Amino acid sequence: MTVDVTVVGGGISGFACARAVRDAGGTARVIDRGRRPGGRLASRTIDGRAVDIGASYFVVGDDERFARVVADWEARGIARPWTDTFSAFDADGTETRKSGPMRWAAPAGSRSLVLDLADGIDLESGREVEHVGPHRVDGKDAGEVVLAMPEPQARRLGHGIPLAPQDWEPVIAVVLRWEERRWPADLHGAFVNGDPHVSFIADDGDRRGDGAPVLVVHTAGDAARGFLDDAAAVIAPVAAATRRLLGIDAEPVSTHAHRWTFARPVHVTGEPFFRSPGLSLCGDAWGESPAVRTAWASGDALGRALAAS
Ligand SMILES: Cc1cc2nc3c(=O)[nH]c(=O)nc-3n(C[C@H](O)[C@H](O)[C@H](O)COP(=O)(O)OP(=O)(O)OC[C@H]3O[C@@H](n4cnc5c(N)ncnc54)[C@H](O)[C@@H]3O)c2cc1C
Repeated sequence: MTVDVTVVGGGISGFACARAVRDAGGTARVIDRGRRPGGRLASRTIDGRAVDIGASYFVVGDDERFARVVADWEARGIARPWTDTFSAFDADGTETRKSGPMRWAAPAGSRSLVLDLADGIDLESGREVEHVGPHRVDGKDAGEVVLAMPEPQARRLGHGIPLAPQDWEPVIAVVLRWEERRWPADLHGAFVNGDPHVSFIADDGDRRGDGAPVLVVHTAGDAARGFLDDAAAVIAPVAAATRRLLGIDAEPVSTHAHRWTFARPVHVTGEPFFRSPGLSLCGDAWGESPAVRTAWASGDALGRALAAS
């Protein structure tokens, strides 16, 4: 008998899970509440251009299975190596350059990575699931049910999930667009330490490769929490801090704020996924660090485990 899986959550972990099930000969469908899938790998069209408002980049890491997926994306032009060097600003504004692992980006926007994984998978978009239980989704038989989403979102769907509650942190992503580029070409991105409003600045035109004069700025934790009920109000202090740090002498011509209530887990579990009969969980809290590669690996591992059961 082959396994039949219903995945609730159309982010990267949900599709990694569905593909692993399908590749092992099982059947899988994905339900997502968004008009388009992607989850936190989100690109939003602003002033006619897709801007990455979720994950800034991804790192391949040492998972050979994920490395093969990324190599295939690179060969087909869906992902590209972006940079291994970012700036880091100290509290007094001092800038240093820091090298690390290669960070990858998607020329068509990060959502395109998930859309590629979704290709050929049975998907129902625009449906908000309200209740799940073992083998049940909204009161109907659903085979093995997988919740591929942050734990606080999963918890809302079922009272019987035998799992300790997890703490998650918010982030507000602020898009700032100018008429022309007004910062150094080799900025790529910058970690910001000690600023009350800004934690990371990404050069969206640089990572996407089209040179658009757009920055995406992620708020520092306290600012995200403080402005969660009125995300637009954080734009002014974020724009001011960004201009000061990068020496930009003009106001942006267009701005946008996107609120991520559950941006990242405060702690990761270290386990690859959560499994109980008929109802399992995967996502970026399941692994070594909350990241795109972790979410993919968690979904892939759960899908293979379900198919093998
Ligand atoms: C601002 C920000 C910056 C980040 N930066 C980085 C970075 O630089 N590098 C990195 O590696 N990672 C980064 N991340 C983390 C990365 O985006 C995530 O690890 C990854 O995208 C998680 O994928 P997922 O599939 O586990 O969850 P998600 O992408 O959250 O997918 C969950 C899905 O479930 C759906 N859903 C929820 N409830 C329901 C329901 N009731 N019914 C139907 N569907 C539902 C949602 O619509 C969503 O599509 C960042 C995240 C954020 C928010």
